[in-house]
Amino acid sequence: NRRFLLVRRPQGEPVENDFRIETSPVPAPPLGGIVIRNRFVSLDPAQRGWMDDAESYMPPIALGDPVRATTVGVVHASDNPDFAVGQWVMGLNALEDYSVAMPGGFTMAIDVDAVPSPSNYLSALGAVGLTAYFGLVEVAKPQPGETLLVSGAAGAVGSAVGQIGKIMGCRVVGIAGGEEKCRRLIEDYGFDAAVDYKGKDHEALVAAIAEAAPDGANMVFENVGGAVMEAEVFNLAMHARIVLCGLIAEYNSEEKIGIRNLWQILARRGVLHGFLIADYADRFAEGGAQMAKWLSEGRLRADEDVQEGLENAYAAFMRLFSGANTGKLVLKIA
Ligand code: NDP
Repeated sequence: NRRFLLVRRPQGEPVENDFRIETSPVPAPPLGGIVIRNRFVSLDPAQRGWMDDAESYMPPIALGDPVRATTVGVVHASDNPDFAVGQWVMGLNALEDYSVAMPGGFTMAIDVDAVPSPSNYLSALGAVGLTAYFGLVEVAKPQPGETLLVSGAAGAVGSAVGQIGKIMGCRVVGIAGGEEKCRRLIEDYGFDAAVDYKGKDHEALVAAIAEAAPDGANMVFENVGGAVMEAEVFNLAMHARIVLCGLIAEYNSEEKIGIRNLWQILARRGVLHGFLIADYADRFAEGGAQMAKWLSEGRLRADEDVQEGLENAYAAFMRLFSGANTGKLVLKIA
């Protein structure tokens, strides 16, 4: 059983020596528990936060433990009548070949025959799709004709948010890094306008967003924070709703300084709403069914960036921070 351990807390950007791969015997199922052979592992920006010894919604990953991750896999051994050997499951486990899971945890059975790839339960039908769905529909509450501004727009969450915004009848403006990602926003995901944040200073970014969203943004779906968000707040319509979903621009910075220019939110009577997908756990079936329906109708496109091999976990994870990932980043480990 190869396990990708966190052995040192990253200072700023993670380096390879913050991690180590250890091999240990395949575990046996504990009383009432199961052992899962993980096939696909989700690589998420949130894992970077769990590596810090910081106050959050979850305890940090302990040093010497494998990196916590959502996985999709097959029951390898079972001491639980609800989970037969060979059953596909997903759950919050770790970056390792085999995970032990106990009943009452997050483990749930999944129907892989209903989807093109089991990895879809880590992307459109998993936390990413549900984050986009509940964050936009339940928190921002889009109205037809409103302008929705999305940062990290070409990523897994952002691309889904923008497409759902279009389904809801909004004008959708995305912010992403680079010309190619901006082209994909328009051509692949149907956004109305795209802004490349790279190579622009504050004034230029404020102006570029203003050109793409001349009436201001009624909603902002925030995945990035930092300089991008500092420019967005100068482009808010009155009473704008900002869904604070992620702040990836800060995850590797040792000093968490946050955005300046909060005054712009006050002046426009904006609402800043912190959002965590875990709060919607009792409605996942409902959100998943809606996402599955849109996908099957061809109204949603969900790209995945599937990297291979547990031994490549570090390099794969860093794609999130270089922006190399084109869609939901997933590691196939078996
Ligand atoms: P993505 O697929 O969007 O990948 C991350 C992207 O972030 C990169 O491709 C890159 O795109 C962009 N990025 C990385 N570093 C920076 C930077 N310094 N400045 C600006 N952009 C940067 O990942 P996800 O869709 O999985 O996650 C997106 C956001 O959603 C994250 O902030 C994550 O923490 C958050 N999230 C929150 C949840 C919640 O419950 N609140 C649940 C799930 C995700 P580019 O090339 O455009 O720079």
